[in-house]
Amino acid sequence: MIELRSDTFTLPSPDMLQAMGRARLGDDVYGEDPTVNELEDRAAGLLGKEAACLMPSGTMGNLASIMTHAPRGSKILVGAESDIYVYEAGGAAVLGGVTYEPVVNRPDGRLALGDLAAGFPDDPEDPQFALPSLICLENTQNRCGGVVLSMEYQREVRAFADARGVAVHLDGARVFNAAIALGLPVAELARYADSVQFCLSKGLAAPIGSMVAGSAEFIRGVRRARKMLGGGMRQAGLFAAAGLVALDGAGRLAEDHDNAQRLAKGLAGLDGIAVDPGAVQTNIVMFRVTAPGFTWQTFAAAAGRRGLAIAELGHGRLRAVTHAGVTAADIDAAVAIIGRVLSEGPQGIEASKASKASKGFEGSEGLEG
Ligand SMILES: *Cc1c(COP(=O)(O)O)cnc(C)c1O
Repeated sequence: MIELRSDTFTLPSPDMLQAMGRARLGDDVYGEDPTVNELEDRAAGLLGKEAACLMPSGTMGNLASIMTHAPRGSKILVGAESDIYVYEAGGAAVLGGVTYEPVVNRPDGRLALGDLAAGFPDDPEDPQFALPSLICLENTQNRCGGVVLSMEYQREVRAFADARGVAVHLDGARVFNAAIALGLPVAELARYADSVQFCLSKGLAAPIGSMVAGSAEFIRGVRRARKMLGGGMRQAGLFAAAGLVALDGAGRLAEDHDNAQRLAKGLAGLDGIAVDPGAVQTNIVMFRVTAPGFTWQTFAAAAGRRGLAIAELGHGRLRAVTHAGVTAADIDAAVAIIGRVLSEGPQGIEASKASKASKGFEGSEGLEG
């Protein structure tokens, strides 16, 4: 199976497994796991922040950050297409006691400053209104096709937030992809945010884990929130060791971007697929099936029976994500499979369903990551 549903499907490399087997361990709730401590120092340094904290997931990293920045009863401004708003089970409302204000994402992922401003009441003394406490940005912007927020835009949001007295949290699940795309050190991309979450378990290819970085005081709050949420782990150095290897290999994300370009250009050559290779900036390719008679469900299922896993990601678009587990040759094979599904047409689906009914893969829908 060529797995393009997500970069979360990456499996630990032999180097990671070896590092996990050799890791020095301790109890991380006591702050005594030397491998976790090393990873946290390394992550803080890479992001140019004072401190960092290992998290079991990006979702918990975002939630602990929101709980630390945003008082209960306050409002957080989030992209209407953001992971925090769409895919995190409403955790900030349920567990953090805050209200979300969804702000429209422009096609390039930006939350326009005018739209952010509309989230602030004219009269902050009027007790009817929940007061904004935090702006959350996402870079790269998953549901906008992995687009990168420009440095200029991030600077503008920082100035806006300072003028309004609110904090900025960056959901940088794929911020290392953004850094490669911009040709900048990741610390530059973290610079205008008070806090940053990034995932070790996506393109960086570690099996488990995310990091949150920020000021030392902020990270003390995040650690308390992490414990409260049940994310205080003991010998977590086991997967911190894989995280260290993952950070060593961050440079290879450039290959994923090349493969995404290769895929988009291949798909653009097929009649019946709508895709814009010019819009592909990182490791995510969004496309639509325009050939008559298909739905994304029937199309993904037919591709699945041919050995290609792709999934829907919002508004009926299919998403393909490149990662360490796929080569350029896999990409060419993926384009060929899609070409074959198109040439067989929707009526081919019934025939291939009948012959391969026992195989069972029916595509998967809407699972983010
Ligand atoms: C995957 C993802 C997350 C959540 O990370 P998990 O480790 O899956 O909880 C958060 N934000 C973005 C943009 C993501 O892509």
